[in-house]
Amino acid sequence: MILRIASSASGNDEEILINKLKNSAYRPRLVSFNGNRVIISQKDLPPSFVQELRNSHLIDEVIVNNDEFALSGKTLKSTPTQIEVGSQLIGAENGFNIIAGPCAIESKEQLELTAAKISELGIKFIRGGAYKPRTSPYSFQGLGEKGLRMIREVADKHDLLVVTELMDIELLDEVEAYSDILQIGSRNMHNYHLLKNLGRATQPVLLKRGMNATIKEWLLAAEYILQAGNEKVILCERGIRTFDDSVRNTMDIAAIAMVKQLSHLPIWADPSQGSGVRELITPLSMASMAAGADGLMVEVHPDPEKALSDGPQSITFDQLEKLTENLQRLSSALGKNLYLHPENLV
Ligand code: PEP
Ligand code: MN
Repeated sequence: MILRIASSASGNDEEILINKLKNSAYRPRLVSFNGNRVIISQKDLPPSFVQELRNSHLIDEVIVNNDEFALSGKTLKSTPTQIEVGSQLIGAENGFNIIAGPCAIESKEQLELTAAKISELGIKFIRGGAYKPRTSPYSFQGLGEKGLRMIREVADKHDLLVVTELMDIELLDEVEAYSDILQIGSRNMHNYHLLKNLGRATQPVLLKRGMNATIKEWLLAAEYILQAGNEKVILCERGIRTFDDSVRNTMDIAAIAMVKQLSHLPIWADPSQGSGVRELITPLSMASMAAGADGLMVEVHPDPEKALSDGPQSITFDQLEKLTENLQRLSSALGKNLYLHPENLV
């Protein structure tokens, strides 16, 4: 149940309301969202209590909704969420962002070559992890702050925006000093301590789907961030674990279309983690765009065979160029605006 607090309610009224709620057994949450103050209660409040609130003119709308996604669902916001980052708009109607870069930041040279190539193609976002969540503790763990400094420098030189992973809330200030979008990785989608604390992040959050998470669990993870006060959430489908071992993960294309049904949040697709197979990146990217994704995140490396992380799923510069050509053609057919050329920028 959602109760919208009357716009006429004063600060003092809100205090009265909060005290009333504290005394109820329902533990409702008072949240600011989309310009409104709302009370969200998982259980429906007793009619007598709701009536009491109505009589006090503290509430001007009562919404009984049976889904659990009060903020990430469409109940309180039916129009798509659009997020401005630098000169770019995410979630624009018929828009499509491309984010490309290495899995891990390895060296200045690797980033410089990559940034030069992607900006030549008109891509506006560079990705690269400085803190890497590797399956094995013996694998390359990332360059840490040194890597963040490198990606910022190279991005500024080529006028690119930086997407990089935040693994630990302790590192929020450090990572935000160098990034434009904070990536929360698949392994951390269930890290509720981290999610709750993203309320104090100033940057948008790219929330990857947990590799074992249902769509419902994923939207509830987004709900944590929205409830904490950060309304700039972008979802990212990156494949799930299934019985099939011919791919690293099974890219859940249906989830992209489903999220569009359930949520106002923008959704990007990551076919690199989503398949683990370089040859599948183009078909899965095109399928993601056709399914309604708002953007594509893809791993690219100047020499994938030598990559320190995720080489087998990283594409070459030539493959990236062909991919953008294919996406350009598909976007015309779909009436989408591929933000690849400066004249198309908002
Ligand atoms: C990545 O983007 O390199 C990554 C580790 O992603 P995920 O968290 O989806 O595995
Ligand atoms: Mn990777």
